[in-house]
Amino acid sequence: MTESLNRIRAFLADREPPTPCLVVDTDLVAERAAAVAAAFPDALIRYAVKANPAPEVLDAVLSTGAGFDVAGTAEIALCLSRGARAAELAYGNTIKKPADIASAYARGVREFTTDSAGDLANLVEHAPGSLVSVRLLTGGPDSVTPFGTKFGCEPAVAATLLRQAVEAGLRPGIAFHVGSQQPDPAAWEIGIATAAKVAAEAGVGLERLNIGGGFATEHRESVPSLTEYAAVIHAAREAHLPGPELLLEPGRVIVADAGLIRTEVVLVTTRAAADERRWVYLDVGRYNGMAECENEAVAYRLEAVGVKGPEGPVVLAGPTCDGDDVLYQRTPCALPMSLKAGDRLDIPGTGAYTASYSSVAFNGIEPLRTYCVGRFADAG
Ligand SMILES: *Cc1c(COP(=O)(O)O)cnc(C)c1O
Repeated sequence: MTESLNRIRAFLADREPPTPCLVVDTDLVAERAAAVAAAFPDALIRYAVKANPAPEVLDAVLSTGAGFDVAGTAEIALCLSRGARAAELAYGNTIKKPADIASAYARGVREFTTDSAGDLANLVEHAPGSLVSVRLLTGGPDSVTPFGTKFGCEPAVAATLLRQAVEAGLRPGIAFHVGSQQPDPAAWEIGIATAAKVAAEAGVGLERLNIGGGFATEHRESVPSLTEYAAVIHAAREAHLPGPELLLEPGRVIVADAGLIRTEVVLVTTRAAADERRWVYLDVGRYNGMAECENEAVAYRLEAVGVKGPEGPVVLAGPTCDGDDVLYQRTPCALPMSLKAGDRLDIPGTGAYTASYSSVAFNGIEPLRTYCVGRFADAG
């Protein structure tokens, strides 16, 4: 990881790209994808493209033999254009139009996730014979960025859908996602135990167990290693559901650590007389990269570039005219007292869910630019 940060910093020093920007080390992306495969040697790995869809990132993932978890037609086209085979794509989005299903099937996609009778009927019609996993609503511990009840169905509904899928000639599986940035491996053990119960209730032999993504990455607090997650998941499969082939859809854990955002300080000032903290306004905010600061969910680390000396507390905000474009006001943040407009900050660990979340031109601000370094950098 130090090597990776050195490569990124060397690029920034050498090229001085305009800020804000995200620099991704593709060597570390490939290394992380290989580490997931090593921790789960008997699993199919499908990188969740939405975490970071940069072509160079996809190339790095592809070089390790992994495939992709895609959410729609555009992501399918992107993955195929980088050389992925359709058989290595899993269409993980349960919200899709009949035309999306038909187009995916026409391109050769044969693996889907569903969680409703309406979507299942569309799959029966437009994706005959495909492997279809029914996504469960899991009741485990909350993650940092949970899915709530938007996706997944209750166990009884899942059992019915599984039976219907088999009767209609589809190949059955079960899927769940424990929420992104999930620090508790027990969440997967609950999901796997529930999946086993549902399969037994349905009386269906599963071909697939899709345990989603959710593996956490370190920011200010330490998180379990891939090996620790794998040990819990392996034991849960042995205990509850050893039969079906395992599929993982990791996003964050493959790309987060490989990225660093460099940003410029636009203004430092105080505001309310009762609050001594300085407000530090950056050229990056909620709408051009820092979307996961919503509700201060992810607490990134901040590093002032070349500014030393004693630190004091700050509120951190983005550059737009939107009142919600504040990154941290409850999460403690400290920066050098001498920090001034024009200084730079680095935000490491920002390879996932940053550029892909950028708005097109809110307040005329362009989406976060991505630069890649490492072995796959020139492939774009
Ligand atoms: C976003 C998403 C993922 C990736 O989750 P991470 O927490 O980034 O690993 C995997 N599967 C599905 C269905 C998703 O929507």
